Amino acid sequence: MDGQSQFRPSDVEPTTVPIVIVGAGPVGLSLGLTLAHQGIESLILEKNEALDPYSRAILIPTRTLDIFDSWNLTAAAKERGIFNSRLQAYGAESGKVAITIDFTGLEDASPNAGFLFLPQDRTTDLLLNAALSTGMCKVIFGTAVSGFSQDTRGVTVEAVSGGSARRFRCQYVIGCDGAHSLVREMLDLPLAGKTYQARVLIADVSFSQHDAEDRAQSQGTAGVAPLRRDEVARCRDSRSKRGR
Ligand SMILES: Cc1cc2nc3c(=O)[nH]c(=O)nc-3n(C[C@H](O)[C@H](O)[C@H](O)COP(=O)(O)OP(=O)(O)OC[C@H]3O[C@@H](n4cnc5c(N)ncnc54)[C@H](O)[C@@H]3O)c2cc1C
Repeated sequence: MDGQSQFRPSDVEPTTVPIVIVGAGPVGLSLGLTLAHQGIESLILEKNEALDPYSRAILIPTRTLDIFDSWNLTAAAKERGIFNSRLQAYGAESGKVAITIDFTGLEDASPNAGFLFLPQDRTTDLLLNAALSTGMCKVIFGTAVSGFSQDTRGVTVEAVSGGSARRFRCQYVIGCDGAHSLVREMLDLPLAGKTYQARVLIADVSFSQHDAEDRAQSQGTAGVAPLRRDEVARCRDSRSKRGR
C-alpha cells in the first residue's frame, strides 16, 4: 500500500458509516485499528494530504509494544526501529554514563521489556497500513472537519474536501484531532493536563559518524537519540521560556 487514501470521495452524499474518527495521528489510527479488531467499521477524516512526515514522538515503551503485539505489529515495529532493553544517558562533556534504565531480567514480565526508538512517521505509517489492511477502516486525506451536529438518530459531520463541502452521517464521531482539537472545542470540553514551562527545540539530523546506535546522550538541556540505523539522529535543546 502507498500509505495514502484508499477511499476516494463518492458522489453519494451524505456518506454513512458507523463511526467517524477525526484525525489520522497515532491516536486516530490506533483507534481505527482497535475498532477493526472488534469488528467495527470506521472512517478516518484527515485534513492533511498525507501523514505527518516528522519524527516527533520517538520512544515507544514496553506497554505500547505489548499492545502492538495484540495487533501483530511488534515485529514490524522493531524491524523499523532500534530496540534496546537498556537505555543509557551520557554526559555530553564527560562522556560518562549519567542515567541507566535497565529492563534486563524482566523478559518474563514482557517480551518487549525495553525501549524502541521509532520515529513517529514510521509508527503512523505502520498503523495506517495495518488499519487499511483490515478492510474495516478507511481513511480520507485532505478532508478537514469543519463542524458536526447531533440529532436523535446520529451525527452529521461536515467537512471540506478538495474545496467542496461534504457531509458524513454516523452513529458516533470521535475526536482524535490533537492538541488544538476542533471536536473538543465544539463540545466545550477543557483540555485536561498541563503545559510545561519549557520550550523544546527538536531537529532530525544526519551524522556522518556517531556512536549513538544504542544509547541516548544528554546533559543539562541537550540530548541525542538514535532514530534509524542509517545514521539519522535527533538533537534536542530545551530552554526555560523565562530565560529566552
Ligand atoms: C515537534 C514535536 C515533537 C514531539 N516529540 C515528542 C516526543 O519526543 N515524545 C512524545 O511522547 N511526544 C512527542 N510529541 C507529541 C506527539 O507527537 C503527540 O503526543 C502525538 O502526535 C499525539 O497524537 P494524536 O493522534 O493525539 O494527535 P496528532 O498527532 O496531532 O494528530 C491529530 C491529527 O488530526 C488532524 N486534524 C486536526 N484537526 C482536524 C480537522 N478539523 N479535520 C481533520 N483532521 C484534523 C491533524 O492534521 C493530525 O494529523 C511531539 C510533538 C511535536 C509537535
